[in-house]
Amino acid sequence: MAREDLDAVLAALREFVAEVHGFAPDAAPVGTLDLVAGDRRVALELTAPVARALVAALAGYHDPRDRGRCEHCQGRRLDDNFLCLDCHRPNGVFGAMLAERAARYPGDPASLLGPAEGAP
Ligand SMILES: [Zn+2]
Repeated sequence: MAREDLDAVLAALREFVAEVHGFAPDAAPVGTLDLVAGDRRVALELTAPVARALVAALAGYHDPRDRGRCEHCQGRRLDDNFLCLDCHRPNGVFGAMLAERAARYPGDPASLLGPAEGAP
């Protein structure tokens, strides 16, 4: 992880804690979250409202790359074309339809890919 990424994580957490704490500034601290990023150490004081908000924020996260699980290998890495990056099989009804159509395509199936994906 690059230093900029670590700085971004620390800054985001600091801002999150400050923002949520602003809604209940009188809440008592319940603990400290110690973060170590490279050679830096940051201690964020957590109140109960901040701790609950942090848990809710993490639990509510949905990765935009999450397209469910592969029906064949249960892998989590499905690409935009519903192809599993682990077992390389098409996933779901739409994936099966794409595979069927690609199998009937008379030309080079690689030509079906867009220029960005087909470029070396
Ligand atoms: Zn798979």
